[in-house]
Amino acid sequence: MSTPNSAPIYQLRIRLDRVSPLIWRRLLVTSETTIAELHATIQIAFGWSDSHLHQFVIHGKHYGIAYLGGVTFADNPDQVRLADFRFRMGERFSYEYNFHVPWRHEIRIEQIGAPAPGQRSPVCVGGARAAPPEECGGPYDFLALRQQYHPLSVIERLLALRRRPRRASRPLRRATDAPVLGRCQRLRPPHHQSAVAAGPGAAVRIGGALMKITVQVVLESGDEPAIVTEVATLEREALTEATLGLTLAESKTILASVQETMVAQQAASYSAAQQTCPTCGARRQRKGHHQIVVRSLFGTLRLSSPRFRRCACQPADSPRSSSPLAECLPERTTPERRYLEAKWAALMPFGVTVDVLSELLPLQANRATVYRHAQQVAERLEGELGDEQPLFIEG
Ligand SMILES: [Zn+2]
Repeated sequence: MSTPNSAPIYQLRIRLDRVSPLIWRRLLVTSETTIAELHATIQIAFGWSDSHLHQFVIHGKHYGIAYLGGVTFADNPDQVRLADFRFRMGERFSYEYNFHVPWRHEIRIEQIGAPAPGQRSPVCVGGARAAPPEECGGPYDFLALRQQYHPLSVIERLLALRRRPRRASRPLRRATDAPVLGRCQRLRPPHHQSAVAAGPGAAVRIGGALMKITVQVVLESGDEPAIVTEVATLEREALTEATLGLTLAESKTILASVQETMVAQQAASYSAAQQTCPTCGARRQRKGHHQIVVRSLFGTLRLSSPRFRRCACQPADSPRSSSPLAECLPERTTPERRYLEAKWAALMPFGVTVDVLSELLPLQANRATVYRHAQQVAERLEGELGDEQPLFIEG
């Protein structure tokens, strides 16, 4: 480059568009740098191979090196210098490389100043991250490629690995899977499936000094005698890290059993109270019952919902019958379950949300329900935001 020593130095910050986290370079070039030279400098700074078409867009006009059969430019790239544009600090222009899958670079003039003694240029004085593989298909494909190593994808992969050992008869797909599966199986407590049994009398003595733990739910309501329900029986023999305390499987079974016992009693007691008319206190006539399904964090609950005939004290145009329990639980999903589904679904794919919830809680989730609930929560939030307010700027 033939550059007079006194030519001003431009500090350029060049960042790759539509790629996150940022890939950028900081270059020092002189004001005498031509379009052709700047093109060559950017190619080197980003590690591109200069094997595709390119163009600069500066002040709305296109510049670059023309190639036979490619684009043509009005100006000679060896004669147009940066100084010709009379850039001001903070001004921006763009550089596009490979028109098929464009790598668009935004160039900002960070500083314009006199060269320091002995200043060499062009030189790259800052930057972050290697440029993407040139032929990976553009910014979107590059981001998708990196998504493979995203933490959520790692969770997905781990969950997939955890599921695999259950299918014991299936041969391993690849020899390289064996050590990974071995490690995953070692992570599982040896008794995770058999050490808990719901309901009484299910414990089986394996031998040795057996410790038996019985979990009961005691329901007390008013002056009624307490109702004691045994929900789970656990067993322990030798103490190891794996037998210390509850396992995930045991905790899920206990949670589900406690939930079922508690909810059955709550529903029965609510329905019993609804047998008398809330207006006149007369006993209402029963007209069958139907089952309602309520999704909770600790399982899908099937509740018997009795239907009562209209009381004689009610006006003739009121509904002929009603199901108080069904009316009391119109959403059929507990708020906590809705909240957790929506929160996780906002952070990761629906499929992973279903896997994570099912892995940790005694529930059966499916993608469609999680999607529907997330949508409903989003719609509610939107509704709560109200109408868009116009913004007035005074001055
Ligand atoms: Zn009545």
